[in-house]
Amino acid sequence: MTRQYNFCAGPAALPTAVLERARDEMLDYRGRGLSVMEMSHRSADFTAIAERAEADLRELLAVPDNYRVLFCQGGATMQFSMLPMNLLGSGGRANFIQTGIWSKKALVEAQNLGMACHVAADTDAEGNLAVPRPDALDISDDAAYLHYAANETIGGLAFDYVPRTQRSDGAAVPVVGDLSSTILSGPIDVSQFGIIYAGAQKNIGPAGLTLVIVRDDLLDQAQAVMPGLFSYRAMASAGSMVNTPPTYAWYLAGLVFEWLKNDIGGLAAMSAINQRKADKLYTAIDDSGLYANPVASHNRSRMNVPFTLADARLDGEFLREAGDAGLLNLKGHRSVGGMRASLYNAVPEAAVDALTAFMADFEQRKG
Ligand SMILES: *Cc1c(COP(=O)(O)O)cnc(C)c1O
Repeated sequence: MTRQYNFCAGPAALPTAVLERARDEMLDYRGRGLSVMEMSHRSADFTAIAERAEADLRELLAVPDNYRVLFCQGGATMQFSMLPMNLLGSGGRANFIQTGIWSKKALVEAQNLGMACHVAADTDAEGNLAVPRPDALDISDDAAYLHYAANETIGGLAFDYVPRTQRSDGAAVPVVGDLSSTILSGPIDVSQFGIIYAGAQKNIGPAGLTLVIVRDDLLDQAQAVMPGLFSYRAMASAGSMVNTPPTYAWYLAGLVFEWLKNDIGGLAAMSAINQRKADKLYTAIDDSGLYANPVASHNRSRMNVPFTLADARLDGEFLREAGDAGLLNLKGHRSVGGMRASLYNAVPEAAVDALTAFMADFEQRKG
């Protein structure tokens, strides 16, 4: 069996070492005679798995003690609803920075729930090719929080700063970051955020798990009537076990955290690898006459690299030949077309080398 290079935007590649370990532990977890999938979530074994995963995540991200880590379900999309329901209970307005498809979906979901919303900046008219500058944010006087997507996974647009903002009365506005496609790609300062959330299937583990890191003081601002599963307070009080959690996804996420710590050497080391991978691919694109990426250089995503071919009639051939060469899932999102190579943590540098070699060869033959 050969594993091919997988550039999927999500569910994305997982580290081979993690899958091998999961395979080895699949039928008989540590001599217990059963799989992690078959264990009670209240058992001592699973409790240890869950606690270990949280401890490793806290260590990797240096999560301060006044933040809770929640292992939720429903994907990042469920957070689009949970955020306003949990944060607007005492009034105020959700502020949104609009930079592309995901940040837009977060706004639309809050609007559909009848929540008070305000757009603090919108780069759509300029094609979402650069993020708004910090001084261009128009924060409403009644802002309860500011939501943004740190990395627009489809547009390949990444913030090069964490928005930091206050209202005109001087009150600090909690920043809520959708880090679905960048979490764990490098060190971050958690204390700059009120809430961080991320669907697992890009950089954490399999689909079905969503990580939420929430500052203590934001647990008790919910609207009066809340479904238990939607309540940060309820989830925090129950150790993320209001109901049966996605146990196997939680276990695999824990294996990924261990891999990051022990095999990679932490997030600074991961960041250096990710930077090299992205630099190689953007250089290949910029140096070519066939490929192009329009995003402003300081906002180019290290995780998701969209690119187009000068002649879109070559797209089909490019994808077919790439597939034959063992380079999978390079088709761009259906809403934008072209190509997209996602270079998440589990995509090895060798995959980028193989991709850039293929691109150069393809250009020489067809360009
Ligand atoms: C993938 C993605 C989402 C949606 O994630 P789901 O888990 O499918 O709901 C939201 N935001 C960003 C930035 C994403 O990349």
